[in-house]
Amino acid sequence: MHHFHYRDNHMFCEDVPVLEIAENVGTPFYLYSHATLRRHFLTFQNAFEGVPHLICFSAKSNSNLAVLRLFASLGGGLDIVSGGELFRGLQAGIPPERIVYSGVGKREDEIEYALQSGIMMFNIESFQELELINRCGARLKKKAPIALRVNPDVDPRTHPYISTGLKQEKFGLGMESAAEAYRSATAFPHVEVIGVSCHIGSQVTEVAPFVDAIHRIKVLITTLESFGISISYLDIGGGLGITYDQESPPHPNEYGRAISEALGDSSFTLVLEPGRVIVGNAGILVTRVLYTKKGEAKDFVIVDAAMNDLVRPSLYDAYHAIEPVVRDHKETMRADVVGPICESADFFAKDRDIPCVEAGDLLTVMSAGAYGFTMSSNYNSRPRVPEVMVKKDQFYVVRARESYEDLIKGESIPPFL
Ligand SMILES: *Cc1c(COP(=O)(O)O)cnc(C)c1O
Repeated sequence: MHHFHYRDNHMFCEDVPVLEIAENVGTPFYLYSHATLRRHFLTFQNAFEGVPHLICFSAKSNSNLAVLRLFASLGGGLDIVSGGELFRGLQAGIPPERIVYSGVGKREDEIEYALQSGIMMFNIESFQELELINRCGARLKKKAPIALRVNPDVDPRTHPYISTGLKQEKFGLGMESAAEAYRSATAFPHVEVIGVSCHIGSQVTEVAPFVDAIHRIKVLITTLESFGISISYLDIGGGLGITYDQESPPHPNEYGRAISEALGDSSFTLVLEPGRVIVGNAGILVTRVLYTKKGEAKDFVIVDAAMNDLVRPSLYDAYHAIEPVVRDHKETMRADVVGPICESADFFAKDRDIPCVEAGDLLTVMSAGAYGFTMSSNYNSRPRVPEVMVKKDQFYVVRARESYEDLIKGESIPPFL
């Protein structure tokens, strides 16, 4: 459920016509619905009612300060994967004691920053990282709260680039080595073992892989208890999928029920790291048609947004619905919807039946709230686009469009040139 809908054939975000925003801020731009973000967060939250839990929203899916502030105000925490995301989270007002830090390649300065900030938990992905965190803890005279990220070796049946929980992937520690790693972790004086974490992949559209992962981890936890190691937090990561096209992922309630059942009457606090399921359908990318072109083999609609703004179609061959901002019931056409970048991978849709459009018309790329702006770049020296948030009948620019000056910020020409 989201709050992008048509009234008299004009697309609205909540109570604001998308056309009006486009006239004010220009195109392209990202557009988020406050009501949708809030609703998705609370739906997810309510799905775990009765189970002690903390929702650490995955910053990498959408890290705009306004979005993070909203989740903070609803009681949410944050799952970060870099010092930069920690900075954003703190700037947005997320309490450090609700921040978990994942990632296979944490740098020493990032670890120290997180330790100084007093985050809730480091999800450690290798033995060397464990040693480094212990050294950082010693230097800063702190005890680092940690979980080991285990790789439960379940197949999430998603795109290979976003599958993370199989043995052959770079993430986490294998189940066989995990128990031993935990035993050595308890010997480090500057770490405190408090949890187990995992994250099996993204855009997962069934509950079974999550349930399998929990069952495997419960076996590990029983082993750990036999070593005298007690676990307070079970972090099961994120990964619940959304509908982009024909997928029918489980509703968060179904996911919540399956997970609660798999947990049984255990005493730990559940940590969840959802990203896409909260923000994916709460955002769209609005773009203007620059040209239409009848090719010899196919027709093209050339728009002013490009793969640098939204890379998912190019990177994952991902499907995004494309809708007109003004629906004037013209005929449909079959075309490739492409951007201006000098790459054949710069497309939003291929051989898609869309309403007939002409230069100047506005189109929306739907379900672009997750891994949209956060994966954008300046490729082809294209300034990054603004992000706009609508609440009821008002819109707010929550990130300004970059200028040409922004493009060269920090660059300098050495004196010998
Ligand atoms: C990317 C990621 C998430 C969020 O995944 P979604 O599919 O967006 O829910 C959560 N945890 C970790 C460790 C991640 O890398």
